[in-house]
Amino acid sequence: MSQFDLVILGGGSGGYAAALRGAQLGLKVALIESDKVGGTCLHRGCIPTKALLHSAEIADGAREGAKFGVKSTLNGMDMDGVNAYKDGVINKLYKGLSGLVKSRGIVFVEGHGKLVSKDTVEVAGVKYSGKNIVLATGSYAKTLPGLEIDGERIITSDHGTKLNYVPKSVIVLGGGVIGSEFASVWKSFGSEVTIVEGLPRLIALEDESSSKQLERAFRKRGINLELGVKFASAVKNKKDVTVTLEDGKSLTAELLMVAVGRGPVSDNIGYQEQGITMDRGYVLVDDKCRTNIPGIWAVGDLIPTLQLAHVGFAEGILVAEEIAGLNPHPINYDGIPRVTYSDPEVASVGLTTAEAKKRGHDVVELTYDLAGNGKAQILNTSGSIKLVSQKNGPLLGVHMVGARVGELLAEAELIYNWEARAEDVAPLIHAHPTLSEAMGEAHMALAGKPLHAHG
Ligand SMILES: Cc1cc2nc3c(=O)[nH]c(=O)nc-3n(C[C@H](O)[C@H](O)[C@H](O)COP(=O)(O)OP(=O)(O)OC[C@H]3O[C@@H](n4cnc5c(N)ncnc54)[C@H](O)[C@@H]3O)c2cc1C
Repeated sequence: MSQFDLVILGGGSGGYAAALRGAQLGLKVALIESDKVGGTCLHRGCIPTKALLHSAEIADGAREGAKFGVKSTLNGMDMDGVNAYKDGVINKLYKGLSGLVKSRGIVFVEGHGKLVSKDTVEVAGVKYSGKNIVLATGSYAKTLPGLEIDGERIITSDHGTKLNYVPKSVIVLGGGVIGSEFASVWKSFGSEVTIVEGLPRLIALEDESSSKQLERAFRKRGINLELGVKFASAVKNKKDVTVTLEDGKSLTAELLMVAVGRGPVSDNIGYQEQGITMDRGYVLVDDKCRTNIPGIWAVGDLIPTLQLAHVGFAEGILVAEEIAGLNPHPINYDGIPRVTYSDPEVASVGLTTAEAKKRGHDVVELTYDLAGNGKAQILNTSGSIKLVSQKNGPLLGVHMVGARVGELLAEAELIYNWEARAEDVAPLIHAHPTLSEAMGEAHMALAGKPLHAHG
């Protein structure tokens, strides 16, 4: 039996971050992974979808060249080429990450692990014991009762990132971040796309104003939206699938992608048997990611925090530092940046207006329209930056819609997390012409001295 300071079950964003930071801090670390280090994010999540979105952007550029005086036409998509580009990016990152794990002296164990006691994980009959165990088994794509995923007509994002053809038509079931990103990709690739969402709006965790702008932009792009109506049933044939909605409407498409959320991977791997407290499969933890069992920690999509790679990284680092005795600050989950990388992008940090009011803040808001921003005009994008602030106090939230606004989040995140006020940000000079100027202009306007804005 091998003895470690830290045994980590699952080598995705959360698990490998704990491993890398733990090793850096001098801990003896074992990282157990049944598939490939990098997990969902690298192999079937963040990276492949963002590569597909980049191909989509280039397809739109070719299609719309004439708008910018460029003679170009889109002659079609070469999905082998798209996949080769995407897989090239993944492979490069995978190689780099594997090398990093090796170079830090982490013992990488390939195989399916099971928690067999409070300090031991077993893989293929071999036991790995640790003073500390980190559970980081991540999540899987859920479906609805009676809706069977066959991987051909009815797929999840796992299959969507590997598709080797452009479907003529797609129904995307679920208008959250993943559903909206795939809808955006397929529309750019030339598919007829319909999103079905049971809630009244797309990306319902975002500020309502962002959802409305995304819906408007999607409709303008010709993406069909069925909002506020629930899925009733699906019948598939050889060539297509017909979806019936609870309002009686039926839709037929070549492909149905189910994007109704992700559930924790926590069954049959010993968590229940060891008495770990869970809720609907999620492992419950305190603000330092400690489970109820001393010495067992949990991070990433397995715990009920935001399902984002950078949240997994932060939680993995937190755990490693806590174990090493650095006593790190708990994570402020409100201060985590969030992006939907569709066209247009939606990006935010901090509280929505509704949440700020619910928490009793005296709220003031300001929306700066990107129509007043030179670079936005050059890029031919529309959208806005909305600031939610405490009256005579710090910023509470920043909500953005438009091309490339995800890149503006770095500044928004500093503003929010450093509890800046509009009058602190207003004097900062932003380069002209950049989209970031809109961030400056929004704060100038909120501080009562608008430049390129009315008011
Ligand atoms: C389509 C899609 C797009 C996304 N885009 C983004 C994005 O743009 N930005 C972002 O921040 N997040 C994005 N995410 C979310 C992000 O991928 C996850 O939040 C992140 O991967 C969670 O990391 P994790 O370590 O908790 O779990 P995972 O990455 O799921 O890793 C868990 C690992 O544990 C392994 N494992 C499970 N059980 C066992 C076992 N018993 N034994 C051994 N190994 C096991 C699995 O093989 C897996 O590799 C996206 C997700 C999807 C699906």
